[in-house]
Amino acid sequence: MIYKPLTFPLRICKLQALAKRLPYTYDKYEIIQTEIKTRTYGYKGEKSLEYPFSFLPDDFRIFFDLRLHNGTHFFQIDALIVTSKFLLVVEAKYLSKSPLVDNNNQLIQDLDGQPKGSLSPFTQVFRQRDQLEQWIATHGFPQVPIYPLVASSHPTSVIRIEDPSYAKFLTRTDALPEKIKEIQKLFKEEVYTKETIELFTGLLLKNHQPFEFKPLPYFNISYNSLRKGVICSKCDFLPMLRRHGTWFCPKCNHTCKEAHLEALRDYTLLIGDEITSRGLRDFLAFTSADTAKRLLSACNIKRFGGGRGVKYRLPDYNRISPD
Ligand SMILES: [Zn+2]
Repeated sequence: MIYKPLTFPLRICKLQALAKRLPYTYDKYEIIQTEIKTRTYGYKGEKSLEYPFSFLPDDFRIFFDLRLHNGTHFFQIDALIVTSKFLLVVEAKYLSKSPLVDNNNQLIQDLDGQPKGSLSPFTQVFRQRDQLEQWIATHGFPQVPIYPLVASSHPTSVIRIEDPSYAKFLTRTDALPEKIKEIQKLFKEEVYTKETIELFTGLLLKNHQPFEFKPLPYFNISYNSLRKGVICSKCDFLPMLRRHGTWFCPKCNHTCKEAHLEALRDYTLLIGDEITSRGLRDFLAFTSADTAKRLLSACNIKRFGGGRGVKYRLPDYNRISPD
């Protein structure tokens, strides 16, 4: 049973908003596009766990994307399964072109004919196991066996390994239910009672701390580098112009009454959920203070502060998942 469901990563939404708001010629544009691609594959890998997990017994408690602090570092687990006899830490991978894990803990992928190295997924998942062990000790729970597992979800690609001893920690995602049955046979002793599991579950959820990704400082990009204005949904032109209470695209003549909502969403994702009338006019690229007032009140956006310090609270997109 799923206790912490998988949600679409807000970080990808923020990266997409950033890419949309930068000129194609901007020097970090490519890095951002690559990060969107890598993180989308990461999400795809995790998403593919949902179906095989649906075959697991009801008393297996499943947690996606936990981020915990072990006293020294944060660590993140793609999927954790809690049972009374063992815990399973799953690292999901969606890797094309059959990459190799060598004996030096490197994952070697072929990137347009060039080898690209990164940390082995086995090293990653073993590290997560160790960090989870520390976390369990810190919180005073009895130690329970933790099994680390890499799940490869690309439909045709194979993760090749130089060290055959890693094979038992690797499975194809579609074979997960069978692999987990095998793992179950290794652990016969009940370590956690129902009450302990209940406490453990509560503590995992309470201690989960999502990473707050702030795209502009992260990439050292200034607000002034962003492209301002309402973007036309038909032809991507910006800025659309405000005419007779609607948005008008001078390039393709498209009109839309609500085109500013998407721009406000970009603002929230990139800057934050507080905006002033001046900030709104600057980001949406128009000058009329009256229009700003009308737009904000029409969207039912809450006003706070007084005098020159009046600000508006934009909707919380942190809770909106595009799935
Ligand atoms: Zn247009």
